[in-house]
Amino acid sequence: MSRTRAPARLPATMQVLERGWLSSNSIVFDDGDAVSIVDTGYVSHAPMLAQLVETARRGRPLSRIVNTHLHSDHVGGNAELQARFRATIVIPPGLAAAVRQWDERRLNYAATGQRCARFDYDQLIDVDRPLRLGGQQWEVIGGGGHDPEMVLFYNHDERILVSADALWENGFGVIFPELEGGSGFAEQQAVLDRIGALSPRIVVPGHGAPFGDAGAALEVAYRRLEYLRSDPQRNARHAAKVLIKFWLLDVRRTTPEQMQRHFAHTDYLRLIHQRYFPRQDFAQMIDLLVAELIRAGAAEFAGGMLHNRN
Ligand SMILES: [Zn+2]
Repeated sequence: MSRTRAPARLPATMQVLERGWLSSNSIVFDDGDAVSIVDTGYVSHAPMLAQLVETARRGRPLSRIVNTHLHSDHVGGNAELQARFRATIVIPPGLAAAVRQWDERRLNYAATGQRCARFDYDQLIDVDRPLRLGGQQWEVIGGGGHDPEMVLFYNHDERILVSADALWENGFGVIFPELEGGSGFAEQQAVLDRIGALSPRIVVPGHGAPFGDAGAALEVAYRRLEYLRSDPQRNARHAAKVLIKFWLLDVRRTTPEQMQRHFAHTDYLRLIHQRYFPRQDFAQMIDLLVAELIRAGAAEFAGGMLHNRN
């Protein structure tokens, strides 16, 4: 495992667009006579992304939009980019039918209380065949853990991993399947093991800057996984806070009443309440979680309103 501290140097054919935590990173690949993009951020950032793509494409067509998975913060710009540049949308196969029918429940947008502009796909990723992006071959790797249908991309020549929400420099995405009583910790462990075996030189995560020290990130991730796995209530509490923080990032400020109304219709939070905190009143659970966010500096209460911070 490489332990160098050198900054992550990406090939000139890859450009990472980072726009804060609400939106996933987008990676623009230079395919020569066209460009492709991997992931498109959250819907509220779609016009900004379209402008960034307009600059990055330098007059060439945006031919493909490829998604690692279908969470709202990774596909929110799909509709806008497709309408503007007439790009082909390529998604992992797992939720193809849900996308075609726009089943917001199966796509998790309803359950998480998040928004996404409707799009349809043109092609499915063939998980058994490498994908060509930026003039290079990328092996498609099953992502598990955070989302059973997620895929990662790995280029063996340059040892670059597009890790989506399976590995960040300081953690990984919420293990959603466990909240519903399914399995996710074992799958997360398996994907971390797989990443360790690949020993990437550079990781381009779904959120945060690209990084070189995959070994250090894996150590953090293994410790984090053990912490969550040893007490599933921790995973539930963490997931609930992530959902609340994500919504705050989107709305920026809210009255406590508006917030409680919104979350009363957010299935994942109701599920977390029923399964993990049944002795508390639902609104009380939300208030306690918000208080934790405030203590952590992620939110602030001022002038009768709850504000997002950082
Ligand atoms: Zn995700």
